[in-house]
Amino acid sequence: MNPKATISCSCGCMFQAAFQNGSLDTPPQCPQCKAIMDKTSWKSLWDSMASLADFNYHILKWNSERNEPRMLVPAITVSTLGD
Ligand SMILES: [Zn+2]
Repeated sequence: MNPKATISCSCGCMFQAAFQNGSLDTPPQCPQCKAIMDKTSWKSLWDSMASLADFNYHILKWNSERNEPRMLVPAITVSTLGD
């Protein structure tokens, strides 16, 4: 599993934060306006990414162990009123 989060910055830039090359100590930075995500927010995003990776890991496991349908979830998309 190599989770990536798509981040939409208020400056209009969209960029990706990868779980594997990133670290909890270095929150993602917008390549355009250089804004850096708040550390507590990054921890929260990190946990969400880990959770989704874990979900997919279990789908694969249950598929091989119990023949459960192999329905992976590569992405969750959220819209807000501000979009
Ligand atoms: Zn930005």
